[in-house]
Amino acid sequence: MSAPLDAAVVGAGPAGLATAHLLAAAGHTVRVLEAADAVGGRTRTLRSDGYLVDTGAEMIPSADAYPATWRLVRATGLDSDPEAVPLVRDALAVWWNGRARPHAGRPLGLLTGMGLSGRARLDLARLLRRLDRAGLDPDRPERAALGEETVADLLRRYHPQVRDRLLGPLAAGFFGWPPERAAAAPFAAHLAASGSTATWRTYRDGMDTLPRALAARLDVRTGHPVTGVAHAPGGVRLDSPRGAVTARAVVLAVPAPVALRLHPGAPPAEREYLEACGYAPMLRVSLLLDAPTAPRGARRGFAVLVPDDPVLAVVTADHAKHPGRAPRGRGLVSLVASPQAARDLIDAPDDEVGARLTARAERLMPGVGKRVRRTIVHRFRHGLPLPEPRALAARPAFADRPLAPVDYAGDWTALRPCSEGAVASAFTAAERTSALLTTSREPITTEAP
Ligand SMILES: Cc1cc2nc3c(=O)[nH]c(=O)nc-3n(C[C@H](O)[C@H](O)[C@H](O)COP(=O)(O)OP(=O)(O)OC[C@H]3O[C@@H](n4cnc5c(N)ncnc54)[C@H](O)[C@@H]3O)c2cc1C
Repeated sequence: MSAPLDAAVVGAGPAGLATAHLLAAAGHTVRVLEAADAVGGRTRTLRSDGYLVDTGAEMIPSADAYPATWRLVRATGLDSDPEAVPLVRDALAVWWNGRARPHAGRPLGLLTGMGLSGRARLDLARLLRRLDRAGLDPDRPERAALGEETVADLLRRYHPQVRDRLLGPLAAGFFGWPPERAAAAPFAAHLAASGSTATWRTYRDGMDTLPRALAARLDVRTGHPVTGVAHAPGGVRLDSPRGAVTARAVVLAVPAPVALRLHPGAPPAEREYLEACGYAPMLRVSLLLDAPTAPRGARRGFAVLVPDDPVLAVVTADHAKHPGRAPRGRGLVSLVASPQAARDLIDAPDDEVGARLTARAERLMPGVGKRVRRTIVHRFRHGLPLPEPRALAARPAFADRPLAPVDYAGDWTALRPCSEGAVASAFTAAERTSALLTTSREPITTEAP
């Protein structure tokens, strides 16, 4: 029999590892159980032939925009190396009229154009001013005075180019959100909180750098899928083909639909929110190239939104994000599918997915297909939380739920489509779980492997 556990955390993505780190720092014994063979979740990085391939997340902005993330960057000492989280140059452009238009998502773009007309830019500035003053809270999106409006409703009041060439493609390409389904409040709160694209950074050693740094100090079991949780003497039992584990408290740091499957006996307020929390699938293809290649007009830039394509939503030149992403003289480019293409192709064979997206990318990067040494397809059935109005309506009751031995963390808990949403949720989950553990000192048992 192994040592008794105070808490078990299911999932070694940013939310689970941050929760475990905070619980351990508060003096509790914690184990993290992860189904995959490595940590990171949707921020995982693959390492192959000298390429560093970010499978999901690409970047983080400054500490103003991602305060919870940067607290952990500091706590793990990553900030002691000034090169560890470098700025990304020319972070976002928009493809328009045959070439990439730079400076999207930053004040300079309002001057240089980003492919928008003068009137559209004035309207964009008007929208941003409105969001700035709206007191939007990304941790409590339901408090915004936007009611049941969707992203499409919100943008309808502004110049059509704002919707069609910039913010609609941004919602679709970065979050997989169809604008007519996603509630406006989380989108507006995220935009207002995220600030300028001029502050975008990436981890030099891959987007899994923070998860790896956290995991290095924790008891993490990879290759350990949890199949269900149930109340048991001494706490909660977590079943797995790898053996059952019992802990006094459990934090499910997995996407909402997975949490619902693992914990079907959740109380009604939790259940209602879990059922309402859908996810948009995301599909992304990494092209390992024999030479650096980029969309026309974005030779040194990183991400390019593609507003007018039914299949391809974003192209990123990862070798421009940081030179260490590809061996010297080679290139690494990623292609993100549009929301519709992600839904259509999520179960298609890798060859077909690679061929469909690469063919669409030829328009932006003529000849790219001939430079491909290897194609890697990344599929995320639970890509990003899709905040439909009914999830927003169910959230207050979920947020006010009483302390319980089964709790939750993850980007979905505040409907925030980013790793900061996941890490911020960990501070709440750890505080709640720690309070529960210190108020009820029950006996603990573990039937661990
Ligand atoms: C394509 C894409 C691009 C993105 N780009 C960005 C970006 O640039 N910047 C940004 O901030 N965010 C970005 N994100 C979002 C970010 O990756 C997520 O918000 C974040 O990873 C969520 O963290 P999490 O811990 O809540 O969930 P996850 O990262 O999904 O971690 C959950 C973990 O739980 C494990 N798990 C699931 N089921 C079980 C089970 N039954 N038993 C045990 N373990 C289980 C999974 O394997 C996984 O490791 C992007 C996401 C995608 C998909």
